[in-house]
Amino acid sequence: MSLALQTFSSVKDANAALQAAGTRYLGGGTLVVRAANEGDVSVSSLIRVTEPTLSAISVSGGKVRLGASVTMAAIARHPELATLAPAARAVGGPAIRNMATVGGNLFAPAPYGDFTVALLALDASVAAEAGEMPIETFLAGRDTSRAVVTAVSFSLPKAESFRFLKVSRVKPKGVSVLSIAAHLQFATDGTVTSARIALGCMADRPIRAKAAEEALLGCKLTSEEIAPALAAAAEGISPITDPIASAWYRAEVLPVHLGRLLLG
Ligand SMILES: Cc1cc2nc3c(=O)[nH]c(=O)nc-3n(C[C@H](O)[C@H](O)[C@H](O)COP(=O)(O)OP(=O)(O)OC[C@H]3O[C@@H](n4cnc5c(N)ncnc54)[C@H](O)[C@@H]3O)c2cc1C
Repeated sequence: MSLALQTFSSVKDANAALQAAGTRYLGGGTLVVRAANEGDVSVSSLIRVTEPTLSAISVSGGKVRLGASVTMAAIARHPELATLAPAARAVGGPAIRNMATVGGNLFAPAPYGDFTVALLALDASVAAEAGEMPIETFLAGRDTSRAVVTAVSFSLPKAESFRFLKVSRVKPKGVSVLSIAAHLQFATDGTVTSARIALGCMADRPIRAKAAEEALLGCKLTSEEIAPALAAAAEGISPITDPIASAWYRAEVLPVHLGRLLLG
């Protein structure tokens, strides 16, 4: 079956074209082109946009804006995004990272979406032509989305307040058993004053560990004090089963790796 490719210079025109049946947006193509090559006949036409803002990274006044076409490789090598580099480097190998975009990662089903786990912990906003929305709202409705995502924005975390971990069986570029991102703020005595924890592979898309977040408040990061948070981490999860790991295994190892992330 043939696959048409249409290129637009504006997001507005691309959004209009995206309403046609069988039409999908083309980011780096690592998932959508692979699916077409493997015989996914639901896609008959791909749309791309050449608007330069989609590929721009801006870091100013502690705020970050990543255009949706920014690649994982570009994030990993950006001098002001060192805190986020581990999450960008967690996506595939070098060839994948050169193509994989921020926009595509937002739509990637588990076990993919490692960078989106980091964005969820950072409470990013997702922008489209119609406006911005919190990433949690975007993720909940992404299956029915028919609009080009243009950018994500978030406050740049301090190095000591942001942690990311991807667990895979094949190092360094295997698919996730799970991934975890935590954005933590501390009082001067080391007590946690705010916690936002995001999990990958614990549902079909990244989710927050809200019970664990709550249990961490007022704790110091010691084995004893984080124990209730580790026990609460399984609340609300529905891990995926795939050739890498079963849902049971993922649920069993989640508290172990969350503990390592918090204590490490
Ligand atoms: C060998 C291999 C290894 C991989 N390893 C990992 C990994 O370790 N971690 C990981 O997270 N992912 C991994 N992936 C999955 C994938 O490469 C990444 O998730 C990547 O970020 C997807 O981005 P993309 O630009 O290639 O998406 P595409 O394939 O271009 O698009 C994916 C979906 O998102 C939609 N889309 C893309 N951009 C937009 C936009 N701006 N607006 C609206 N819709 C959009 C497309 O229409 C499509 O439905 C891997 C893939 C492969 C093939």
